[in-house]
Amino acid sequence: MGNVRELMARLGPSTVKFDTGRGGTPDLTNQDIAAALGMVPAGLGRELLEALWWPESGARRMQQLRQAVIALMAPEFTRQQKALAEARTELGIAKTCMGWGGGTVTDMQRKEFLRAEAKLEATRALSWPNNTMEQLGTLAGAVITELANAGCCNQCEGRGSTPHRGGAVECDGCDGSGIEPMSGRQRALAIGSDQSAYRRFWRPVYEWMLERLREAESDAAHALRMALGRAA
Ligand SMILES: [Zn+2]
Repeated sequence: MGNVRELMARLGPSTVKFDTGRGGTPDLTNQDIAAALGMVPAGLGRELLEALWWPESGARRMQQLRQAVIALMAPEFTRQQKALAEARTELGIAKTCMGWGGGTVTDMQRKEFLRAEAKLEATRALSWPNNTMEQLGTLAGAVITELANAGCCNQCEGRGSTPHRGGAVECDGCDGSGIEPMSGRQRALAIGSDQSAYRRFWRPVYEWMLERLREAESDAAHALRMALGRAA
């Protein structure tokens, strides 16, 4: 079976038959591919498949893609905001307990204060920027463009691993994805921020989103490949 993404990219208004270029596989028509696409489970992955490799359909399904991205990102953002609020509350309680009513501050209270302070700091470090939801459209646009332009990792030539002592280890150029990551400078440019703001604030949310979108798209491409295999 040929690369399903290449097949999809050839989908268009015409109904020209095309050869998949693999001997023994019957020609696939646009209808075959469109029908197979209908068998891919609905959701983020299928929307991405269409947006990335079938731009005409993707343009019509902009709203569905937006909803799928929001459905992915909003619950995680809400979870983080809750964790932050809880950590802030704990720190406030620890602070007010120290010497409550003019009493002396105990070692236990001091310990609890330090623990709550460290917890808030750690929670904050893992949290996305406060205006993440406002920036979601810009972030999603940049991440999807990165997915669309993804090239093979130079270090492992797309394999995701490099030979090591007779075996193989995960490639550290691409963290095993086989795809050349865009540089921080390119990503900063794509989201309209500067490099230091990207590194300090936006990198965690960008990478979280990229990883999940890539996974969803890859699962959907796999499902499409299976559906085409059955159709052939
Ligand atoms: Zn690599």
